[in-house]
Amino acid sequence: MIMKLLELNHISKSFDGLSVLRDVSLSVEKGEIVSVIGPSGSGKSTLLRCATLLEKIDKGELIYKGKKIASPGENGNSIYASKEDIRQAKKIFGMVFQSFNLFPHFSVLQNIIDAPVTVNRENREEAKERAMKLLKQFELDDKADAYPCQLSGGQQQRVSIVRALALDPEIMYFDEPTSALDPELTAGVLKAIKELAREKMTMIIVTHEMNFAKEVSDRIIFMEKGIIQHELSPDDLFDSKYERLNEFIGKIS
Ligand code: ADP
Ligand code: MG
Repeated sequence: MIMKLLELNHISKSFDGLSVLRDVSLSVEKGEIVSVIGPSGSGKSTLLRCATLLEKIDKGELIYKGKKIASPGENGNSIYASKEDIRQAKKIFGMVFQSFNLFPHFSVLQNIIDAPVTVNRENREEAKERAMKLLKQFELDDKADAYPCQLSGGQQQRVSIVRALALDPEIMYFDEPTSALDPELTAGVLKAIKELAREKMTMIIVTHEMNFAKEVSDRIIFMEKGIIQHELSPDDLFDSKYERLNEFIGKIS
């Protein structure tokens, strides 16, 4: 049976009367890689923030691995599951933001093992061992004792990826992971995400890197004005029948 890791059904979200997500539905199966593209302000980050429980949806349904985390109540507004269910759901995913969000006063290794040890109560030595393995895989093992300020932006972002992976997520979310980087540092971060793709990690990636999206994705979603306007195969990205999408791609590439 095909397992859906994430299901978003008919979700809506407004901020002070501004409708930011309008009846958005998206589901992701284990092993799938979905890229989300679209102009600034179209609701891409809000979509990820709702999926990762950083924002609450107003309407609709949010389901992780078949378990309802938010679903419509009697008046139609979404009601969230218990704190414990939410805590369990949060273990399913990891998130990497545009800004790297590392703790500046922690070394690379400390940044990575902090949550596994303090939140998940993992054995410190085992957490360290696993962290070192991940650092090696992402060519950062010589940086374990460095502090974030001693690393390039690209290295910091790769550490952020390793930090998320150290919690052993089943889905990884990326919100424009290379937008804050100089072009020459972008490649290393994209390579790290491709490495995850090779391992069949389930991912939802918001990106402006169109060639990367075409290369790595199973599906691409084009958002505009809070709506999923189109869903397409990566083969059609640069040659679609959708005028607005072509115009958008023309503008950014
Ligand atoms: P994108 O990531 O596609 O650029 P966002 O999801 O960040 O778009 O934003 C979509 C819209 O929602 C924008 O108009 C933005 O100003 C608004 N928005 C996002 N977050 C908030 C918030 N916390 N409060 C008020 N408005 C917000
Ligand atoms: Mg955004």
